[in-house]
Amino acid sequence: MTDRIIPVVDARAALRVPSGPSVAADGLLADRFGRQLRDLRISVTDRCNFRCTYCMPKEVFDREYRYLPHAELLTFEEITRLARVFIDHGVEKIRLTGGEPLLRKGIEKLVEMLAALATREGGRLDLTLTTNGSLLARKARALAQAGLTRVTVSLDALEDAVFRRMNDVDFPVADVLAGIDAAAAAGLAPVKVNMVVKRGVNEQQVLPMARHFRGSGHIVRFIEFMDVGSSNGWRLDDVVPSREVVRHIDAEMPLEPAEPNYSGEVAERWRYRDGSGEIGVISSVTQAFCRDCTRARLSTEGRLYLCLFATGGYDLRRLLRERGDDGRLADAIGRIWHARGDRYSELRGEATAGARKIEMSYIGG
Ligand code: SAM
Repeated sequence: MTDRIIPVVDARAALRVPSGPSVAADGLLADRFGRQLRDLRISVTDRCNFRCTYCMPKEVFDREYRYLPHAELLTFEEITRLARVFIDHGVEKIRLTGGEPLLRKGIEKLVEMLAALATREGGRLDLTLTTNGSLLARKARALAQAGLTRVTVSLDALEDAVFRRMNDVDFPVADVLAGIDAAAAAGLAPVKVNMVVKRGVNEQQVLPMARHFRGSGHIVRFIEFMDVGSSNGWRLDDVVPSREVVRHIDAEMPLEPAEPNYSGEVAERWRYRDGSGEIGVISSVTQAFCRDCTRARLSTEGRLYLCLFATGGYDLRRLLRERGDDGRLADAIGRIWHARGDRYSELRGEATAGARKIEMSYIGG
């Protein structure tokens, strides 16, 4: 059934690099709304060993699903070369994602190559990774030794039956918790734990998750179920607004708002009043944060996307593989960011209803 493959493949027509004056890599790159380029998320694989029902549902991502062939993926050298150019444009934080990034063979090597890059000011790059945690117990130490700074682990429930149902491959909670412990032991703490909250599916897991991680030093972030991609059957009714999550937790474990760590922070921070830690809420649906968005996203095969909800990307791989120096790449990235004017979450429903968006598993979280 070809319908199954459409959501991702269909969205891959490359956009044209905007023309106009050349944009120097001087670290002050701003888009049409004055938003600077600070973060780069790099998807290193479009494959995942989970089939989370809201992200890579089995009915779509089944045996017939065509993943990218290996030759299409950016090599580690290509990723590192691009990362260097992005850093010249002001990027200070890089997050590896996917698919499941720990499935990419030799990922530690890529971490090592990226960790060797310094920021424009000569400081240490904030190099992090988002994972489902399934391979983390095995890999945490090597990743930390390779230079990873931190790690974010996705965990949607603490109750084993609920979690197994959601990942849809019968994967146990205990193994993810072991991965979180291994990450902390390897020095990748504090671990951020991301929980996507879906109405009627795992909302009853909010309190157990908060209780479990309170006092652990790890930070649970409750994420509103977003309308990413076209394959997860998103409905507004399935979204549990962050304010409801905060109200619930606050009723049992009193909270107070905390200042953002930096401008443009995605999660809104809340502290337990008794000093036992903090939580975060990510409210992309009910409180769009486009105005502070400093993120660019690189897909597994080298397409540059300016928004999680974009319908198209720019083909940087072609520029990489054509003969040419980094100046050309820098110029293209500069022009693209300079012309950026998207604010999908703020416009949601208005201008974008019916658009064929890229899948989360293709571009990463
Ligand atoms: N495999 C890795 C993982 O599980 O963290 C990285 C990729 S995964 C696509 C990144 C994050 O996106 C996960 O935390 C996942 O729960 C989240 N995610 C996927 N689909 C989502 C959606 N529709 N709304 C909100 N978050 C979503």
